[in-house]
Amino acid sequence: MSKGKLFVISGASGVGKGTVLSLMMKGRDDLSFSVSATTRAPRPGEVDGREYYFVTRERFQEMIDQKAFLEYDNHAANFYGTPRDQMEDKLTRGHVLLDIEPNGAKAVKESAPDAVLIFIMPPSMEELERRLRGRGDTSEEQMKMRLERASWEMEQRTWYDYVVTNDVAQRCADEILNIIALEADK
Ligand code: 5GP
Repeated sequence: MSKGKLFVISGASGVGKGTVLSLMMKGRDDLSFSVSATTRAPRPGEVDGREYYFVTRERFQEMIDQKAFLEYDNHAANFYGTPRDQMEDKLTRGHVLLDIEPNGAKAVKESAPDAVLIFIMPPSMEELERRLRGRGDTSEEQMKMRLERASWEMEQRTWYDYVVTNDVAQRCADEILNIIALEADK
């Protein structure tokens, strides 16, 4: 029997989702993070099995063929997917947070209508660009792709259940925790 709900958190690359998510999860045994599989290379500091399962394209295709994903998507020249197997188990222990983009969010909502969709906005487009450049792992060409993608993603926020702004990460984390507390009782 599942005990928790699915909470999908979306927001453009560089909006600070990773920081917000780790602040939210501090000391919260009732929240777990759904670790996606991806074909992109790890960034400095990322650990296999913590931020993502880093896999080859061949392995990712194998997982698609085995229907191992709840949903998957291809963008910025890489594949990202939510593995099914960990989900049931995590839901028996509490709420599960998914950091996925809007196509994935839509697919999750279709297969789990109870899922709550939360979109994180940057304080401004200029700030998003500044944060992306600060990360230093993005070439000019990739930067252009990411900013175009960010505009498209932000247009999708209209069909999310909640929209929050990440101006100060701790404040944003607290706002999402309040949403979770509210939705958990419904
Ligand atoms: P990044 O490369 O910056 O870690 O992530 C790029 C985008 O992929 C982010 O918008 C993130 O939310 C999304 N993403 C991460 N995991 C998944 C997944 O399993 N499925 C989908 N659809 N998107 C994902």
